[in-house]
Amino acid sequence: MSPSAFEAVIGLEVHVQLRTETKLFCACPNRFGAEPNTLVCPVCLGLPGALPVANREAIRLTVMAGLLLGCEIHRISRFDRKSYFYPDMPKNFQISQYDRPLCLGGGLEIEAGGTHKRVRLTRIHLEEDVGKSLHFETTSGVDFNRAGAPLMEIVTEPDLSSPDEAMAFLLALKQILVYGGISDCNLEQGNLRCDINCSVRPAGSSALGVKTEIKNMNTFKGVHRALTYEIDRQIRVLRGGGTIRQETRRWDDDAGATDSMRSKEYAHDYRYFPEPDLLPVELTEAQIETWRADLPELPAARRARFVREYHLPDYDAGVLTADKGVADYFEAVARSCGNPKAASNWVMTDVLRVLGEQGMEIGHIRVTPEALAKLIGLVERRVINMPTAREVFAALFEHGGDPETLVRERGLGQVSDASAIDALAAQAIEAHPGPASDYRNGKAAALQFLIGQVMKLSRGKADPRLAAEALKRRLGIN
Ligand code: ADP
Ligand code: ZN
Ligand code: MG
Repeated sequence: MSPSAFEAVIGLEVHVQLRTETKLFCACPNRFGAEPNTLVCPVCLGLPGALPVANREAIRLTVMAGLLLGCEIHRISRFDRKSYFYPDMPKNFQISQYDRPLCLGGGLEIEAGGTHKRVRLTRIHLEEDVGKSLHFETTSGVDFNRAGAPLMEIVTEPDLSSPDEAMAFLLALKQILVYGGISDCNLEQGNLRCDINCSVRPAGSSALGVKTEIKNMNTFKGVHRALTYEIDRQIRVLRGGGTIRQETRRWDDDAGATDSMRSKEYAHDYRYFPEPDLLPVELTEAQIETWRADLPELPAARRARFVREYHLPDYDAGVLTADKGVADYFEAVARSCGNPKAASNWVMTDVLRVLGEQGMEIGHIRVTPEALAKLIGLVERRVINMPTAREVFAALFEHGGDPETLVRERGLGQVSDASAIDALAAQAIEAHPGPASDYRNGKAAALQFLIGQVMKLSRGKADPRLAAEALKRRLGIN
């Protein structure tokens, strides 16, 4: 068979940690990075007899995610116990949702390789996270700080057909969840993890092949690599006349390969049954409508609005809205300075460049939108020129502060005193007779050189337009 004779079928189960103050069933802080086992109580440690109480905010965030993703919201949903043996879950069951999840259906539009596609969602449910096993040289331990953290699981239909599409889906999902304030989706902190389900089948066939599941991926690049490997492995097995075993596999990032972990467990292995310590979750129509009214503007809508409202090119609007923090920052600058085009130029070039160089999130930048707006104003009013403005921006980036004060204190104000510039123009011409006569003889490019000299003499502070005028006047071309 030719290499194109197989196609991949992929479904994802994405686990997203919700942005709540407290855990799902107790009042312990839902926080990353604390000393192990300092954010725990009898409920999240799973001590016998401790009673869970559902966190309303976690339910609200899950419903908000469902509304953003076009799901149907169950008016009555329920928590169930999923039984299994795990060292990081002492009570030997996880409180999850089985047949009455909070959200059903829905979908997400993705773009990969220039084509658009809608990926259907099966469901979104809410469950508690488990502890984290830590392995040392001779011992192992469990950190329960994460146990009981609210985890939303988003399950897709097997609608994805390539590693690129899986990446595009995860990126689009992350963007929406961050926009919605539902999760920080910080991959380094394990806020977003996913299980990959993957099978292959003869191209054009509609039957599904036997799938394998790769558990607990926590980088997008890892998802792409693992899928690329696994699709290739399955095709090789089938070409060689073998069969795919339904199993759970582990991705070994160093080896760049998946290997078998265990044979697949089935739903009946988990002995799901309704959680007796929690009431069903009942949501009224009015409650859901209140939440719906609170939905944020999504990236695609915001992008369209930026084009409409600020007259930005669609590409620029796309760059500015890719990250909610950047979009908020841009809008604050644009509103404060009244010049959206300049705001967009600054954010798209200088701001995004330094953030990229420093690997910094926009939330941590010391240049406030008001400061950048003032800086834009200084350039507009020709108090400083662009090179000086970039210098001021760099200083603001390092230390924060107010650009007007900085310009005053450092004496960076542009020389727009015509007679002072005229004197510098005279000096430049005298020092460089060659270029001066070139220009007189019609070599227009020589003027740029002379302007450069005037800028140098003024230590970058001359207004280049006035410099050009003075030079032309002196060289008799005006
Ligand atoms: P399981 O019974 O193994 O939990 P589910 O039917 O619940 O399987 O599906 C789990 C995930 O696997 C979903 O994202 C689904 O889209 C995906 N999936 C199901 N069957 C296949 C298949 N044959 N190939 C690829 N993905 C699949
Ligand atoms: Zn607790
Ligand atoms: Mg399943």
